[in-house]
Amino acid sequence: MVKVNDMYYAWSPNDEIAENGECGGAVTSVMKFLLEEGIVDAVLAVTKGADLYDAVPTLITDPEKVIESAGSLHCGTLNIAKTLNKYLNGAKDMKIAVTTKPCDAMTIVELMKREQIERDNVVMIGVNCGGTLPPVQAREMIEKFYEIDPDAVVKEEIAKGNLIIETEDGEKEISIDELEDEGFGRRTNCRRCENNIPVMSDLAMGNWGVIGPLAGKATFVEVFSEKGAEILEKAIKAGALKVQDPVPKGIEIRANIDKAMVNLANKWQDRNFGEESGELLSLDQYMDEFDKCIKCYGCREACPLCFCVKCSIESESNEWVGKGELPPSPMFHFVRMLHMVDSCTNCGQCEEVCPAEIPLAKIFHKINVQLQETFKYKPGYDMEQKPPLSIIDKEPSEE
Ligand code: FAD
Repeated sequence: MVKVNDMYYAWSPNDEIAENGECGGAVTSVMKFLLEEGIVDAVLAVTKGADLYDAVPTLITDPEKVIESAGSLHCGTLNIAKTLNKYLNGAKDMKIAVTTKPCDAMTIVELMKREQIERDNVVMIGVNCGGTLPPVQAREMIEKFYEIDPDAVVKEEIAKGNLIIETEDGEKEISIDELEDEGFGRRTNCRRCENNIPVMSDLAMGNWGVIGPLAGKATFVEVFSEKGAEILEKAIKAGALKVQDPVPKGIEIRANIDKAMVNLANKWQDRNFGEESGELLSLDQYMDEFDKCIKCYGCREACPLCFCVKCSIESESNEWVGKGELPPSPMFHFVRMLHMVDSCTNCGQCEEVCPAEIPLAKIFHKINVQLQETFKYKPGYDMEQKPPLSIIDKEPSEE
């Protein structure tokens, strides 16, 4: 019987899925099984668009089409939680299984607490994540450092601290540290991220810790909820998934890599937040950054935690923000911050869309880390713990 905290090596018994999958196709097989059995109505996964650098969130209802989402796209700068909430009505009308990197899973949990996503209708199939790459910059990096035509790349992979770029002619690897020291590599928010294993998902799947003959051909699965245990047990019993116990050394290696990644993230936090990382930036420093704002509302549109139907910072009666006023009062950002910063999961979407290149994710992440210490509240982890600054509304706010 499968239980919470159980661990397995898992892979697909279906040759085509195993071949197309990143590490044996366990995720794809579980997703397909969930659809075939009617346990979910749809799967929200990621498919390849124009090329490897183009990751597209895709809703799949036909089990035979799930295979199109097999494989990991490391340039996927997606906003899965926002897609689930805004475009799929928070899974209120259908049961959805969704592949979640840790930041996606954490944001979904925060939105569940704020009653925007229907907890009972969502199955979170987590994928471990050591970070994503910004797509346009990744192409530039591949040309400059690997001296490879980005269009000739058939696979990219992060393993043992290196970014491996594979073409039909072979592969080349460069240390992530080296690339990041040169200003390339992972997105800046990913560098600071301490959450590599999506423990808040129902199942977490990744390649770390799979050693021996199954290395590269199976995925390390850890069960994190009763729902996950039930699904995994059904999939194994139905023959939709092959499993074996993980090698103890593999469990140890996985834990050690995770620890090393957390240490690296802490180093990046110190670097990004300044030596005195426990302190707030001075008000003057905030003003200097927020002064660059052109009030395009891009950060608000991209933020998965900004879900209000009518935004208070746009209202005519809001004297603090001043409709139409440019440059906007910094209160625009302070009011938004007050609404979301306790739940901020450092997904980086705000900074990514900002045309004025304000380091928004860095600012909000720093404040969130300070709030975590003050309130002992880590967003996205404990479903029972409520965000400290927020009023939990049942309906999206009208004001
Ligand atoms: P498959 O059957 O191939 O299924 C892969 C699933 O991943 C599909 O459902 C697809 O929709 C989804 N997916 C693809 N790209 C994305 C994306 N950008 N965002 C969200 N979902 C996506 N494992 C580790 O152990 N350590 C790591 O550092 C690590 N980093 C990763 C970084 C990224 C961006 C991704 C997507 C995955 C990462 N993984 C990592 C997980 C690993 O690559 C495999 O996804 C996992 O082992 C499952 O393999 P599989 O063959 O069962 O998956």
